[in-house]
Amino acid sequence: MDEQAYFERLDSTADAASGLFEHFEARQAAGRAYHALSDARHGVERGTVVFPEADVVVRGYPSIPRIVWLETGVPSFFEAHDRVVVEEKLDGFNVRIARIDGDVLAFTRGGYVCPYTTGRARDLLDVDAFFDEHPSRMLCAELVGAETPYTTHDYEDVDGHEIRVFGVRDRDRGDPLPVDERRELCETFAFPQPELFGRYRPDATPDAVADVVERLDERGREGVVMKSPDCRALVKYTTAHHHHGSLAYAFSLPFDYGRDFVFSRIVREAFQAAELDDADRERRERARDLGESILLPMVDAVEAVADGETLGEAHTVRGAPDRIAALLEHLRDQGLTLSIDDDRREDGDRVVEFTKVSAASTDRIRHYLDGGTVDE
Ligand code: ATP
Repeated sequence: MDEQAYFERLDSTADAASGLFEHFEARQAAGRAYHALSDARHGVERGTVVFPEADVVVRGYPSIPRIVWLETGVPSFFEAHDRVVVEEKLDGFNVRIARIDGDVLAFTRGGYVCPYTTGRARDLLDVDAFFDEHPSRMLCAELVGAETPYTTHDYEDVDGHEIRVFGVRDRDRGDPLPVDERRELCETFAFPQPELFGRYRPDATPDAVADVVERLDERGREGVVMKSPDCRALVKYTTAHHHHGSLAYAFSLPFDYGRDFVFSRIVREAFQAAELDDADRERRERARDLGESILLPMVDAVEAVADGETLGEAHTVRGAPDRIAALLEHLRDQGLTLSIDDDRREDGDRVVEFTKVSAASTDRIRHYLDGGTVDE
C-alpha cells in the first residue's frame, strides 16, 4: 500500500504517514485484504478502512458530542447556523454501507466487515440501485431491533431487526449530504429513516427538544440528534430512560462496564434533573430509578453466579444458515467466547440464541463469593 498517498488522502494531523499507519490493522474480508483503524487517531475517525487493491477509502462515522444543558448548550453549539434539525436518535448499532469494486459491504464502528449485517443490508435496502447512481457515497445507518448480534433494544414497530438510514456521506472524504437532501434521496430509494421532529431556530430549540425528549422518555426511546442543516454540526441529547437502561445493562456485567458507565450517566442525570425536573417528586423518582438501575442488576448478577451461571450478553440472530455460520465465526475470530443457548430452524432460517460470555464479571464475582478480599 502506498502509505504516503493514503496519508495525504486521509488529511490526517499526524506528522508523517508512519505515525498514522502504525495504528492501522491488516484484515481480510469477503476475499479482500484491507486496513482498518480501530480507534480514532490523528484526526481520522475510528473504523476508517482502506482497500488498497480497489483503491478505496471508507471514512469512519464521526463521534457525536453530547450536550447536558440544553438552554445554553444548543445556542452556543449552533451559533453559526440559523436552523437546527431535530431527529430521533435510535438505539441500535452504527453501520456504514459502501460498494467496494462491485461488492456491497457493511462495516461496524470498529471497521470490521460484518457478514450478517452485510447480508441484511443487501436484503433490506435496494443497495444496488443506490450504488449504481452513487458509487462513491456511503450509507450511514443504524441496525435496530431485538434480533441483532450487537444490541437488543426492542422497538414496538420493528419485527426482528430493521435498518434506518440517518446519513449519506462521501465515502472517501466523509463529507455529509445536507439533511434535507439526504432525506429526499432516501425517500427516492424507499430507505427507512429516523423520525424528524422539526426544524427550529437555535434559541427555540431547547424548549422544543425538552418536549420531544419528555415524550420519547415516556415511550422508552433513546433521545435525539440535533443537526445543522448542512449536517456538519451534530450533537446528541438523551432520555432518562436511556441513561437508566444503559446503567442496568452495564451493571448486569458489573466488572466489564460498571466503572466506565457510572459517572458519565450520573452527570447526564444530574444536569437533566436540574434543568427539566420541576417537582421534587420527579427528582425523587429519577433518583430511585437511577439507584435501582445500578443495584438491582448487579444483585441479580451476584445471585446468578452463586447459582452456578455464567454471565454474558444474550442475543438472538435469525437468517440463512450460511450467514449465521459466518457471523458466529466472525464473532469468535474477534476473540469472543460464545455459549450457544438454542439453535433451531424456523421456515428455512437458522435461529440461534447465544451469549457472549463475560469471563471478567463471572470470575470476579465467583472470586468474592469464594471468600476473596476486595483490595481498593
Ligand atoms: P460517539 O458518538 O461519541 O463515538 P457512541 O458510539 O457511544 O459514541 P452514541 O452515543 O451511540 O455513540 O451516539 C452516536 C451514534 O448514534 C451514531 O454513531 C449513530 O450510530 C447513532 N444514531 C442513531 N440515530 C441517529 C441519527 N438520527 N443521526 C445520527 N446518528 C444516529
